[in-house]
Amino acid sequence: MIPQETVQKILDTARIDEVVGEFVHLKKRGANLLGHCPFHNEKTPSFTVSPAKGIYKCFGCGAAGSSVGFIMEHEQLSYPEALRYLAKKYNIEIEEEEQTPEQIAQKNERESMMQLSDFAAAYFQEQLHHSEEGKAIGLSYLTERGISPQMIKKFQLGYSPDEWTAFTDHALEHAYTLDVLEKTGLTIVKSADKHFDRFKGRIMFPIHSLTGHVIAFGGRTLSQDKKQAKYLNSPESALYHKSNVLYGIAFARHSMVKQDNCFLVEGYTDVISLFEAGIENVVASSGTSLTTEQIRLIKRFTPNITVLYDGDNAGIKAGLRSIDMILSEGMNVKVVRFPDNEDPDSFARQHSSDEVARFLEEQAQDFLHFKVSLLKTEEAHDPIQRAKMIKDVVESMAAIPDPIVRQVYVKEGAQWLDMPEQSLQNELNKQLRKKLQDRNRQPYITEPTTPLEPQRIPQSTFKKSRRHKQEENLCRLLLNFGADNFEHTNDNDIAEEYNVAAVIIDNLEYENLEFTNPLCQKIYSLYVNNITEDHFPDSHFFINHLDREVVNFAVEVFGQKHELSPNWFDKKQIYVKTETDLLRESVLRSLLDFKLSIVEEEINALMTALKAEEDEDKALQIQEQINKKKNNMRRMCDDLGRVILK
Ligand SMILES: [Zn+2]
Repeated sequence: MIPQETVQKILDTARIDEVVGEFVHLKKRGANLLGHCPFHNEKTPSFTVSPAKGIYKCFGCGAAGSSVGFIMEHEQLSYPEALRYLAKKYNIEIEEEEQTPEQIAQKNERESMMQLSDFAAAYFQEQLHHSEEGKAIGLSYLTERGISPQMIKKFQLGYSPDEWTAFTDHALEHAYTLDVLEKTGLTIVKSADKHFDRFKGRIMFPIHSLTGHVIAFGGRTLSQDKKQAKYLNSPESALYHKSNVLYGIAFARHSMVKQDNCFLVEGYTDVISLFEAGIENVVASSGTSLTTEQIRLIKRFTPNITVLYDGDNAGIKAGLRSIDMILSEGMNVKVVRFPDNEDPDSFARQHSSDEVARFLEEQAQDFLHFKVSLLKTEEAHDPIQRAKMIKDVVESMAAIPDPIVRQVYVKEGAQWLDMPEQSLQNELNKQLRKKLQDRNRQPYITEPTTPLEPQRIPQSTFKKSRRHKQEENLCRLLLNFGADNFEHTNDNDIAEEYNVAAVIIDNLEYENLEFTNPLCQKIYSLYVNNITEDHFPDSHFFINHLDREVVNFAVEVFGQKHELSPNWFDKKQIYVKTETDLLRESVLRSLLDFKLSIVEEEINALMTALKAEEDEDKALQIQEQINKKKNNMRRMCDDLGRVILK
């Protein structure tokens, strides 16, 4: 845990222009700095940095936030990781808060496992490059496979000698304990004096965490012995949770963001060979069939996946399930099928970089098209098989969470399958109902929030209601002026100091008024819940929040004053004299506007009811209610006018 004061110190010290400037070439433009957005491809710069406000904002893709937010998004780090990054940059020492003995023990265990993994990776590399056996067996094998020295180095490939205890003995000599050796899975312990190396006589592929630490190994045997598994992986450990890890992610993540796509392959060598061919946005789900966690990991960097399939049909059929899983996560899936008897590895080795890139681009087809064409060739004209195929395709469609996207597929699918759109739609509805029933039977599970999910949603194009606008306006006043005071003469003609936040909150709570815009409600609750005796949450609090939506709103309204438009105040010839007068008027008027917008909504609802009402008596009653509300509005305006004149 990083202590709160240190967090504050980091936030205060990290200058947005310096932090961003390390990654983006910025040019001065007035009070701001301008550059090319690192989060989307653009020709004319629309990425703005405001040193005064401590924020960045891209007018092209909507990315926005603080220094910490920038590092989180650009380096794909968690919040604490980003804070540590900035602390290091600014030489701010982090004194971790005291931990319980269990926490320390746990941390120490993880740390020694991590150290041992690094130590092992270095040992296996040393063996590959410098031992006779490693050079003769391991290195020559890799070279024959066409893996270049650069890739061997980058992926830290190594060799584990064909002896029972070579590595374990070496580690024990260097003071690592048998306990830690067993926990990492590098050593298999039978009894106190009987243990041996797990990866005896294998080419070693270190598996890295997202941040590039070695956390496990995959080992490939070179022996012809059929009884030995071709690939062997580290077992699950405190460091290594198979289902959460993708091979190559540490090297691929930047390219995944930049290319806005991720190629998904099966094996270690597929990743390495494609990397060698210049395709860097590639990962493998090796050691396990694709999991939801792995898909979500990819989604942190890009919503687009292209699955690469080997040429044989058996492999493809087995892989079809993962397409539905990817679709369920709301991601876009494309598929590339390699020629018969080829896999990404062999193909990349036999073709130039340009050819590989062109092949992937040209062959990538929509998952649905792919599925239809695959099933069509197989099941030709047998009606039973055809029904099965349609059901299969519809199952994939039903996995797509976005109804609009689903609709597009119904249209296209009907064409490809050569059937009426309506029949396909009926089939899909049936599937959706079934899914819903299944879900209702399952116990409710709360999903963890993933604040890092990239937000590339265009600004809402929906027309905002008047009420929502007023709600936003009140939030804007809270964020910018919540802690400020204004002078106001009360009913007994005594001038008193009023606090902006207190006035707004009191008014809302007193009249039991609620925000209907969920984002405004969220911001309002955050505000109320984070007020302390001597501190009001300000724009910076919200800009450094973990919720992207909140950050975007805060950036949007940062420093915006309430606009005083010429309306009835001016008609009454009120001249604003001081800042606090201005603030007073803004706050009171915003509250009034908000309340008016609520009454207006109520009147509109009554008007609609009035139009539909056929009973004359009832219609009269409604009309009366409307009149009452209109009078009410007038009185509210008058009241405010009087108050402001004081
Ligand atoms: Zn952008």
